[in-house]
Amino acid sequence: MLLAQPSPVTPLIMRVRIAPSPTGSVHLGLCRTALFNWAHARHGKGTFVLRIEDTDVERNTKDSLAAILEGLRWLDLDWDEGPDVGGEHGPYFQTERLDTYRAQVERLQDGGHIYRDFSTPEEQDAWHAEQEKRKQRVAYRGADRDLSAAASKERADAGESFAMRFRIPEGETQFTDLVRGQVTLPHTEIDDWVLMRRGGGMPTYNFTVVCDDMAMGITSVLRGEEHLVNTPKQLLIYQALGAEPPEFGHLPLLLGKDRRKLSKRSGDTSLGDYRAKGYPKGAILNFLALQGWALDGETEVFSMETFVENFDAAQVSKGGSIFDPDKFLWLAGEYLRGETPAELAEHCLPFVVAEGQSSEADLRERWDWFVQLIGAVQERLSLYSHAPSWLAPYFVSAEELIYEPKAEKGARKHEGTGELLGAFGEWLGARPTDEDSEATSTAAKEWLGERGVKIGALFQPLRCALSGQPGGPDLFLMIGLLGRQEALLRIQKLIERLAQ
Ligand code: GLU
Repeated sequence: MLLAQPSPVTPLIMRVRIAPSPTGSVHLGLCRTALFNWAHARHGKGTFVLRIEDTDVERNTKDSLAAILEGLRWLDLDWDEGPDVGGEHGPYFQTERLDTYRAQVERLQDGGHIYRDFSTPEEQDAWHAEQEKRKQRVAYRGADRDLSAAASKERADAGESFAMRFRIPEGETQFTDLVRGQVTLPHTEIDDWVLMRRGGGMPTYNFTVVCDDMAMGITSVLRGEEHLVNTPKQLLIYQALGAEPPEFGHLPLLLGKDRRKLSKRSGDTSLGDYRAKGYPKGAILNFLALQGWALDGETEVFSMETFVENFDAAQVSKGGSIFDPDKFLWLAGEYLRGETPAELAEHCLPFVVAEGQSSEADLRERWDWFVQLIGAVQERLSLYSHAPSWLAPYFVSAEELIYEPKAEKGARKHEGTGELLGAFGEWLGARPTDEDSEATSTAAKEWLGERGVKIGALFQPLRCALSGQPGGPDLFLMIGLLGRQEALLRIQKLIERLAQ
């Protein structure tokens, strides 16, 4: 007898998605959700899907959509299916999927899981006001819940306006959250919620999200904790439609230092704000990864390869994650200092141009010089936007140079500075023109030693003369970057100023 061959089992391919609504700026919360889902998908060798929840037509904007797509792409959170890239499970905009929702409404209606609620908004307000008065929280059950199918249809056919509500059954919903473990919600706490708005309006989030996740074969959903209350409603739809739900994990809220939900009140919240301030991309991603996840409790600086390799939703913390701006800035500095001078020059260039210090064409023309210049101040930068203030002295003439009060005070501290600077200028002017900055530096120290002058007595005023700043890169590097003639001009200018 021939034994039946077992049918080949198709391995379940992990399918992960994010479903942002284009209603505002690209919030860091969205970026964190996108990053965790992306890492989850990449770790599981699955597919990462981007879907746009745009049924809230009044609040959606084209600008917001464009900013989301551009922002996620800038973060390198590439999606395998979604807007621009397409895929087999499209369309990836909800407004293009309205027919698919209607089909599911019919199925739910046939199964008796939803009903028409003819009550007016005023009637519902009165009901809620009544509950409030009684200080009792009772889940909403529509007055027309038990209307016979025939009577309900008759009123609808007669043109009466209605919303479609889900008929919450008795009992409770339990599920295992990837992050939070066992979650239970008694159904007495869930309203008969609206799936289709009154007057043939748009379907609502809790319904469309299930239809889409089902249609797109989504196996795993990581989203913000604010959605935890929605999950039982969504699970009841899966149950009503006889479909297998994805696994869910709810990520901790991003909190400000005041332990309240991160908002404008506690500081900048959008990706654009941090890009405009010159935070390196790697630092933004690394910082977001730390919002609810840790590598080993010690290592704070890690690459996205390491994040993907080690990411496990079960290790995400349950408690709210405090957004610490000081740590973010520190991390930015770590990343920035890890760049090569050429990379850093590339990243600082737009900030230098925006400040009006130079044009891109000019910088490209003397690129090697610009890279050296950036390399000289690298240690002092934490953000790309810090570059212009350090670079200012190199983009002005000796005449335009601004002396910071602290620098000038230092230059005036010692007696005989004018003569010393004069003598140094003469000495410098006589050095071989092809001498490198290190050799000049060594020779200058010897020269000072021979004259019995302390290093600081020359270096402090010299720094002021060259840059007008109290601190900065190595002085001889600066002379090289400015050019010897320009340096001599600046020394002369300070001598005159001190004499006044
Ligand atoms: N549009 C919802 C949001 O951006 C999607 C939530 C979900 O992932 O289910 O919060």
